[in-house]
Amino acid sequence: MSVTILKDKCRGCRLCLKACPFDAIKMEDGKAVINYDKCTNCGACEASCRFESILVEREEKKTGIDLSAYKGVWVFAEQRLGKLMFTSLELLGEGRKLADKLGVELSAVLLGYEVDGICEELIHFGADRVIYANHRLLQNYTTDGYTKVIADLINEKRPEAMIVGATNIGRDLAPRIAARLNTGLTADCTKLDIDEEQRILLQTRPAFGGNIMATIVTPKHRPQMATVRPGVMKKLEMDKSRKGIVESVKVKLNEDDIRVNVEEVVKSAKQIVNLIEAQYIVSGGRGLGNPEGFKLIKELADALGGVVGSSRAAVDAGWISHDHQVGQTGKTVRPKVYIACGISGAIQHLAGMQSSDCIIAINKNPDAPIFSVADYGIVGDLYKVVPMLIEEVKKLKE
Ligand code: FAD
Repeated sequence: MSVTILKDKCRGCRLCLKACPFDAIKMEDGKAVINYDKCTNCGACEASCRFESILVEREEKKTGIDLSAYKGVWVFAEQRLGKLMFTSLELLGEGRKLADKLGVELSAVLLGYEVDGICEELIHFGADRVIYANHRLLQNYTTDGYTKVIADLINEKRPEAMIVGATNIGRDLAPRIAARLNTGLTADCTKLDIDEEQRILLQTRPAFGGNIMATIVTPKHRPQMATVRPGVMKKLEMDKSRKGIVESVKVKLNEDDIRVNVEEVVKSAKQIVNLIEAQYIVSGGRGLGNPEGFKLIKELADALGGVVGSSRAAVDAGWISHDHQVGQTGKTVRPKVYIACGISGAIQHLAGMQSSDCIIAINKNPDAPIFSVADYGIVGDLYKVVPMLIEEVKKLKE
């Protein structure tokens, strides 16, 4: 890197003299001159110049990383109290596709204490290998413990990519690991792919309030890391004939490595709606007009054996709790049937439900954008249409 003064452009305004923290610029014949003994190439002079008369040439920073030493795709297999999170199965399905495109092994990284039973499950859902860290101090999730163990494993085994579910734990863990390893992380991806020519991970996520999709790459650092929202990827069918390797790894962890002591795990007393795994979702929006409208929505959801979803407008109005919200800042769902009642179909709502197998929209405005993604559209007042649907569903059940 070096600094050059373009003499023909310099006006002798002395702004760069004032800006230089190292007293490395002086005036000669009305023009700025650099004293290279003092100059540190910090670029402060370039930033201060109003006449584009200072040029700072920067060398591209070399990471010194041998990218070819990194191989394989890893999925963080998140378990809580010995039960594997559904999202981990979805990530295995996606990880399988990525690993196959790269022609490499797919590994599930499982941390916990005596959760051996999960290993086979991970193989049945797509993993070639389970890297199993079994340790008393990993029984409950702690940021310190999990970060240390996974960062150590990555340094030792060098995977080229690692994907983590954007759950509460995943959102805490993945950035810690990325920062420790000095690599990049794309949060909340909705699509992953491989650039087969360059063999890099293409990480796509909504940006600018969901108005564009940005594809982000990590070309110079490893591993390439991404978190993926629950409900976005598709899990594979369980295949009990699949065979894989369970590799128990030695865990170097002691109590001093963990600054938090988990005394007790208390489950939330509140019943949280499970939108992610639901097959039928009936969602209500601002078109309900009042919170009581959700009673009707629930009646239809119950008749179908499904659950209640909502738009953000209904959540913001205080008509229903946030755990029902579908969309960019809510849950991403892919049920067999999604019924949108009184929802206009803003892009942020569509981002969370447009992968549903069948979408039915009820809206009194024939031009509502929701109809552009609907398989069946009913133009009408939801307070007339929904009771008719409930009656028909009940009849079918009799
Ligand atoms: P409206 O847009 O007001 O639509 C109401 C609809 O009801 C209208 O189409 C109307 O014709 C219809 N209607 C009215 N009365 C009746 C009736 N009696 N019968 C039938 N139809 C009727 N939104 C989400 O949903 N999820 C998100 O996760 C989300 N995240 C966001 C993130 C960001 C960064 C931003 C900026 C916005 C986000 N939003 C999200 C908000 C989103 O932009 C919309 O404002 C919201 O989805 C609108 O909700 P709605 O469709 O219920 O209300």
